[in-house]
Amino acid sequence: MFLRVDRLQVEMPMPKDPDPSAAAAVQELMGGRFGEMTTLNTYMYQSFNFRERGKLRPYYALIANIATEELGHIELVGAAVNGLLNGAEPKGDMSKGDASFKHMIGAGGSIKTHVAPGPFGGIMCADSLGRPWSGEYIFNSGNLILDLLHNFFLENGARTAKLRVYQMTDNPAARRMLGYLFTRGGVHAEAYARALEQLTGVDMKKMLPIPNLQPDQIPESRPFLEEGWHRRLYRFSTTDYDEIKMIWQGQALDGSGPLEVRDGPPEGGPQYDLAAVPEAFVPDYHPQEILEIAQKLYKKASG
Ligand code: MN
Ligand code: MN
Repeated sequence: MFLRVDRLQVEMPMPKDPDPSAAAAVQELMGGRFGEMTTLNTYMYQSFNFRERGKLRPYYALIANIATEELGHIELVGAAVNGLLNGAEPKGDMSKGDASFKHMIGAGGSIKTHVAPGPFGGIMCADSLGRPWSGEYIFNSGNLILDLLHNFFLENGARTAKLRVYQMTDNPAARRMLGYLFTRGGVHAEAYARALEQLTGVDMKKMLPIPNLQPDQIPESRPFLEEGWHRRLYRFSTTDYDEIKMIWQGQALDGSGPLEVRDGPPEGGPQYDLAAVPEAFVPDYHPQEILEIAQKLYKKASG
């Protein structure tokens, strides 16, 4: 089971200005073939279907905990898209017949994001064209070596997608998140490589990095490298999955120090608190009304 912490996995300052084009590119990293939904669900279903957990405990622990980290990644991508669209509000007054959403066509992002009766201008479980994420993207053969090999490939595919999004936007908020995800994806690729090396003797680490771009070539990754995020693997538990240490040990690939397993989640940063968009009926209450309802509930709960 999972414990939920109401924080983002990493500190992510709110974007200063709306940037729908950046949001549109980042959307691919949620529900695209190589997005966070695919890494999350691939590892999640592999962990559900994992047999011989007792005998193969370190590999089960590895896949299960990387899956949990990916849950935090979909949350980050969701926050990034919401933050980048924040303030891209409708302009006009419906009672005067204004087409309040007109300026949003061509502003980037799929029209569906703005029109479908979902949370206004938010993240979708879809790719950058608005196509829904598909469970077909999951790979789970049940063969441990083949699954780990696929995961190695998947992390490097995801890395390529992130680099392309990076090249598409210079938005500092988007790039901050990319710098983080890029660093963490490097850890996951290396962890799967180490697991494969233990099981087969093949030194997959020699292939890294794919694409061949050192992590410190991305300026937004440097703060994370300096803090040692590229050497850490998290077990999202203080009681379970200690066996992960049997895979994540030794020296970091860049020679910067020893690999380390951290117990429990990272400290992270605050969630965004987005303002209402009354023109889009989101939420469909006057904010003052909600405040009063909330105050009544608080009183009831404390009294
Ligand atoms: Mn990820
Ligand atoms: Mn990953």
